[in-house]
Amino acid sequence: MVYKASESRYDKMEYRRCGKSGLKLPAISLGLWHNFGNIDNIETSREILRTAFDNGITHFDLANNYGPPAGTAEENFGYLFKQDFKAYRDELIISSKAGYGMWPGPYGDFGSKKYLVASLDQSLKRMGLDYVDIFYHHRPDPETPLEETMGALDLMVRQGKALYVGISSYSAEESTAAFKILKELGTPCLIHQPKYSMFERWVEGGLMDVLGDNGVGCIPFSPLAQGLLTNKYLKGIPQDSRAASGRGNGAVEGDRITPQVLDKVQKLNAIAESRGQNLAQMALSWIMKDPRVSSVLIGASKPAQVIDCIKSTENYVFSAEELKQIDEILK
Ligand code: NDP
Repeated sequence: MVYKASESRYDKMEYRRCGKSGLKLPAISLGLWHNFGNIDNIETSREILRTAFDNGITHFDLANNYGPPAGTAEENFGYLFKQDFKAYRDELIISSKAGYGMWPGPYGDFGSKKYLVASLDQSLKRMGLDYVDIFYHHRPDPETPLEETMGALDLMVRQGKALYVGISSYSAEESTAAFKILKELGTPCLIHQPKYSMFERWVEGGLMDVLGDNGVGCIPFSPLAQGLLTNKYLKGIPQDSRAASGRGNGAVEGDRITPQVLDKVQKLNAIAESRGQNLAQMALSWIMKDPRVSSVLIGASKPAQVIDCIKSTENYVFSAEELKQIDEILK
């Protein structure tokens, strides 16, 4: 059936300014790292995208290597985009990235201009797009001069293949250096995509301040620690969970679900319930309480998870006592 987006899609979602840019992002964005590869059911993938857009999620995040196999998330997104979302292109923020190993030989990994330019061309072809809204360098490259990597991002914008650029997983120091180069080139960095969740708080040690000071947005990835920060693993590992899927490619595995983790999850879950939220919702609200966060980037294996996560936007306020209790648990 031809998809027609819900008329009420903009009624409830909050849109936050991304750093000091002109761009606003939905408080919740959807990533396609998992659940959109060739090993997944494409009709479920379609329903997840439709549910997201119908509820105001205007931002879909991809990368060259998402799948598995690598490249297939972009291909499948391209297939679904053509059928369902082409008419809504100007209502969507679509991002891609390169920086991890993608093809054999010396030009398919890290941060050379050769790799990044070729990879974006491949991504555009797979997705059937003329341009991406945001293109990221996916991880720092210790060997390529930062001037070359940032120069490649600047070139993409000048060529009209990307509207904005970002970086992912750069440290506070690396980010400062990258922002300076990009500013001098005339293509200011829009956004940083770091791993950030209750279980992974490294960004609080300097990066968030650097982003705030430079007017660069922040979109934390894996805010639910790939599902650990939900109540799903409290009674064992469900068959339909990521931890049971054996997907590889960095997906969480059963050995991460230790008694110590479950003890923390149990305690966090109790606080969430006392706030009238479930743990997934509290884990997202806890990140969004920082106004320097532009959007949180979730994954979802089912449409219902998208709806569930969006409810987190209804309550960002934490009492000092709640924050103290959460810090104690996470210590
Ligand atoms: P999350 O931490 O949000 O984990 C997503 C998983 O959590 C889902 O697949 C689902 O697990 C579970 N989940 C989601 N919502 C709920 C809910 N309401 N209730 C119960 N379980 C829920 O994020 P991801 O790790 O998937 O990462 C999100 C995105 O971040 C990626 O798609 C990608 O775009 C980006 N990313 C970027 C990286 C980078 O290097 N820049 C690296 C990794 C991710 P289940 O499948 O078990 O149902």
